[in-house]
Amino acid sequence: MKRLEDYRDELKKCVKCGACRSICPTFRVIGRETACMRGKLALVDAHLSGGLARTGAYARHMKECTLCGGCRDVCPAGVDTTGIIAAARAGVFDEQGLALGTSLVLKNLLGPGKIMPLALKLASRIQGFFMKDAAVQSGFLSRFPLPGMGGGRLLPPLAKTFFMDSEAARRPGSVGRGSEAKADAPTVAFFAGCGVNFLMPEVGEASLKVLGEAGARVAVPREQTCCGMPAFSMGDVATARSMAMKNLEVFEAAAADFITTSCATCGYGLKTLMKELLSDDPALAGRVEAVVSRVRDVTELLAGELDYGGDGESGGKPAEKTVVTYHDPCHLNRAQGIRDEPRDLLRANPALEFRQMRFPCSCCGLGGGVGMSSYDLSIEITRRKAESIRDTGADVVATACPGCMVQLRDALHKYGVDARVAHVVELI
Ligand code: SF4
Ligand code: SF4
Repeated sequence: MKRLEDYRDELKKCVKCGACRSICPTFRVIGRETACMRGKLALVDAHLSGGLARTGAYARHMKECTLCGGCRDVCPAGVDTTGIIAAARAGVFDEQGLALGTSLVLKNLLGPGKIMPLALKLASRIQGFFMKDAAVQSGFLSRFPLPGMGGGRLLPPLAKTFFMDSEAARRPGSVGRGSEAKADAPTVAFFAGCGVNFLMPEVGEASLKVLGEAGARVAVPREQTCCGMPAFSMGDVATARSMAMKNLEVFEAAAADFITTSCATCGYGLKTLMKELLSDDPALAGRVEAVVSRVRDVTELLAGELDYGGDGESGGKPAEKTVVTYHDPCHLNRAQGIRDEPRDLLRANPALEFRQMRFPCSCCGLGGGVGMSSYDLSIEITRRKAESIRDTGADVVATACPGCMVQLRDALHKYGVDARVAHVVELI
């Protein structure tokens, strides 16, 4: 992993044109130079030149970034903007650490080991004390402000049975397969990720079902762990690295033709972050490449190698069509270049009418830890997205990331938009 000092030359590439302001979701809401990348790079430069400490305002401005990658896309000088912010956050983490609660979650709950399921199972039993039913979608409203969460926030309940404990994950072949897979069918190892495992097991189950219908033989490796993105986003590189190492070993052993996930962020974690985190050990390079080259987002795999065209059973009369629109997760659209595949899968279902929304690629506001560290900023970013969804008149907004689903459900509830949120695999 590169340290902040390694980015001195990269910083010099910035020509201060301000193109990054035009696309930045945090700048659109905050409206100050320090919220956009040009301002943040100036702060990093001031820090590296020795004039600015890593505390207080510097740390806050580094955190006010969803790591959406929009500025990196539009930057005419090709500055590695998100790489610089990630390194700056790692520097802040080295000096200040994380809040105790966040640190405990990242190290013990999301990391390899047995504490995670036990603690979250307990939490799933007592969550009614902190939350009340929102009577909308599947969400709870916090009864009072929770640390790092804000009050009145629509939160997904912890699953009663986590995906990795479910019958579907233990025996993937049992999940509604349309026809038995042929002996030469491609083998697929499914990576669940924390969102699917703890919050949305139904998305994992729908993924296994569709993969089976598409003719794949699916396995769910038992020892997999968090992809490392939450820890990395908050600057805890050592924890993220240990997760990447564990997943490398687990998916090497799985020896499947493909590794797939229905979480855009996890897909980025497995395709790109794993390489970066393990790059300090050249002996691992061949092993990492062998695993990374087989990773596909579930929509990429279905529309690509598996050539999935739907099960042919969901066609309805035109009058009965469900209107659907699609939100592009930053970690799928910008980070993996996957835009057409989810739309093509939705359009292939004759029971759906697809309508494009305004700003489909704008960030939902949750990413980069902003949903935890600055909830008011995060949900204000989502306001424009909610309005865009309302303008389409869609019954359902589809996306391909459990994190975006959590944020969109909260925003649609908060801004009074009557639309359901679903993963693409639940609609095809
Ligand atoms: S778009 Fe790139 S070159 Fe222009 S100000 Fe932003 S970071 Fe600098
Ligand atoms: S990564 Fe996104 S939120 Fe962060 S500065 Fe760039 S455009 Fe703004």
